[in-house]
Amino acid sequence: MILTNLQGKEVEIKNCMGCEIVNGSIDVFGGILYNGSYFTVAQDFELPIDGFIIITSKRHVKKFVDLTKDEQMELTAVVHKALKILEENNIAEEYNIILEEKSSHFHLWLMPCHSWMKEKFGRVLKNIKPIQEYAIKNMKTQENFEKIKNTCELIKKEFKKLF
Ligand SMILES: [Zn+2]
Repeated sequence: MILTNLQGKEVEIKNCMGCEIVNGSIDVFGGILYNGSYFTVAQDFELPIDGFIIITSKRHVKKFVDLTKDEQMELTAVVHKALKILEENNIAEEYNIILEEKSSHFHLWLMPCHSWMKEKFGRVLKNIKPIQEYAIKNMKTQENFEKIKNTCELIKKEFKKLF
């Protein structure tokens, strides 16, 4: 499978994307921001949206109910910590937590609700697809990459501090 990363470069995914992110065989923009016992934190692979974070399980499991007790605990702590960092640094006013079980590898997104999303599209959750398409089409700018990179660095630094 060939995917286009957030900078517009085509990347070949040989097996499972989740596995390739956690084992480092594909590069993600900004790098791995936190490498826990059971989960990793990174900027979303495809979307040039500041603070759009993906949390991926290290084990190749599909569903939320497949997680062990220890994994559940780390996941909650990682989600909480990541949201706290985004919140305290005013990356967006609100966030959605998105968990979709259609892929074969467990992951969860933190989706920031930026003011431009609300202004252009109204309700964010209802308009995820057009928002993502808009970002891919219009937000691959140097200025936006710098912003995303700064947020990545911030998340990396803050996770190191208190975790
Ligand atoms: Zn996998």
